[in-house]
Amino acid sequence: MRSDRSIKAQLRFYSLLLILLPLGLALAVFYGVLRTEGLSRAQRDMQAELRHHRFDVEQWLAYRLADVAHVARTDAVRRVDLPAMTRDFHAFLDAHGDFRSLVYVDATGRTTLDLDMPEGGVDLSDREYYLRARQGQPFISRVLVGRTSGKPIVIFSAPVLDPQGDFAGLVFGSVRIDALLDMVSSLRRTPVDPPFLVDAATGVPLSAPEGASPIPLPDRAALADGPTPYPNRDGSPVLGVGLPLKNGEWLLVQERAVADVLGDMHRLLLLLLALSGATIAVLTPFLLRLARRVTEPIEGISAMSERIMAGEYGSACPGLDVAAMTPELERLYRNFCRMAERIGTHVGELERLSGTDALTGLANRRLLADEGARIVSICRRAGHPCACLMLDLDHFKHINDVYGHATGDEVLRRLAAAIAATVRSSDFAVRMGGEEFAIIAPNTDAAHAMVLAERIRQAVERIDLRRGGMAVPATISVGVADMSGGQRYGAGPLEDLLAKADHALYRAKQEGRNRVSPWVEDSPGRAAGGAGHAPPDAPDA
Ligand code: GH3
Ligand code: MG
Ligand code: MG
Repeated sequence: MRSDRSIKAQLRFYSLLLILLPLGLALAVFYGVLRTEGLSRAQRDMQAELRHHRFDVEQWLAYRLADVAHVARTDAVRRVDLPAMTRDFHAFLDAHGDFRSLVYVDATGRTTLDLDMPEGGVDLSDREYYLRARQGQPFISRVLVGRTSGKPIVIFSAPVLDPQGDFAGLVFGSVRIDALLDMVSSLRRTPVDPPFLVDAATGVPLSAPEGASPIPLPDRAALADGPTPYPNRDGSPVLGVGLPLKNGEWLLVQERAVADVLGDMHRLLLLLLALSGATIAVLTPFLLRLARRVTEPIEGISAMSERIMAGEYGSACPGLDVAAMTPELERLYRNFCRMAERIGTHVGELERLSGTDALTGLANRRLLADEGARIVSICRRAGHPCACLMLDLDHFKHINDVYGHATGDEVLRRLAAAIAATVRSSDFAVRMGGEEFAIIAPNTDAAHAMVLAERIRQAVERIDLRRGGMAVPATISVGVADMSGGQRYGAGPLEDLLAKADHALYRAKQEGRNRVSPWVEDSPGRAAGGAGHAPPDAPDA
């Protein structure tokens, strides 16, 4: 559609584009590059940090194992000096708060000194830590359930060798897993969630109760392809890294919410959006005003050109507000008005020279002098009657004022059409000027001219012209005269006839308008009249 290509629409479209395009590009760059870059960096940082944490956890385990191994190497244990062992074990448990118990198992796998179970004699020969000890290996168990506490524990064990260097059992100490988990929880360099431990075989966190289901874990294979966020156990998207511990038995995992990683960028993006919104909000009124300042004069000038095309030169230049125009448009407007005025002047001159009235198509006053005089003289020579009708629209100024000049012009055209449709072809109709018309009717006496005038009056009354739902009231007054009387006015018979009709018209106006009046001998002259009709340059003698 044409309206889509209007200046206003295009201004709006391109200014929106100007704001939204950079914003869209920023968004695309953010999601295409910055997001991946940000996530990768966060993942690298997490991995580096987690390596430190893994070292801390492994060291924590190694220290506890070393503590138990140290006990296993004491003389009291190697010689199985039970009173000394009891004393040492108590001292050990007092000094090592993480340990819940310390137990000596003999070479056959039976508990010999257990501070929790003084009677002893429990067979542990099938336990992995016993089997490892027999092979001379210290050992850290997987997560077990404590015999007495029923809580998850980890067992640290070390073999005992008798003074001859032969296998003489083992010492093991149990540490509640909570102690380990508390330690892991305290590992935190940057302000993010602490890491946690997971059983690598089952995928169940060490902190979870028995029988708990596995949790989603970072895909270690996909790490090389870049950051791969996944939904964590709460379903929120996270970035995770995992490192194996304890020969791959456990996994140390650290997670960070994607929203947290991208938080700064999202805030930046929101700021960008807010700024764009504000820019649009601030610029829009200016753009609309600019659009109005451009389109309003152009529309005004277009309307002007249409009036010029319709032949309305005089009223072509509308009173547009020059102060609101841009300088370029002001120049166009002023030049256009000047042009319209000159065209109007030239057309008027041409009309006058050609003898035709451009608005109504009737003859103009210039032709009246020649053609009117010719008709009158033919009638006179032939001894035929000849009549003149002088017509004038009633309260035409009011019509112009109320409905506008263009409507006034339309009334003039309709009146001319009514005249042309009613008169005979031998009749000569003239627009005298303004809203005044004359008809010279050869071979017509006053009585017949009165009938013709009445017919025209009625035709005008029937003109159905509506503006804004209202009928435009068009009526005429007509003065009628013929050549039957002696000459009273003017230089010749035509001037006399016109003046008589004009006086009759004056009387019709005086008597109330919308009527036809004949010339009568004692008809009052123009000078006698008051505020009523003033005949245009009546050849009043
Ligand atoms: P009255 O009944 O006494 O004749 O009142 P009137 O208002 O018709 O007479 P007046 O002479 O006061 O006003 C004539 C008006 O006709 C004034 C002028 O603006 C208007 N006029 C003259 N020529 C034209 C024209 O070509 N087009 C239009 N639209 N109006 C015109
Ligand atoms: Mg009038
Ligand atoms: Mg008039």
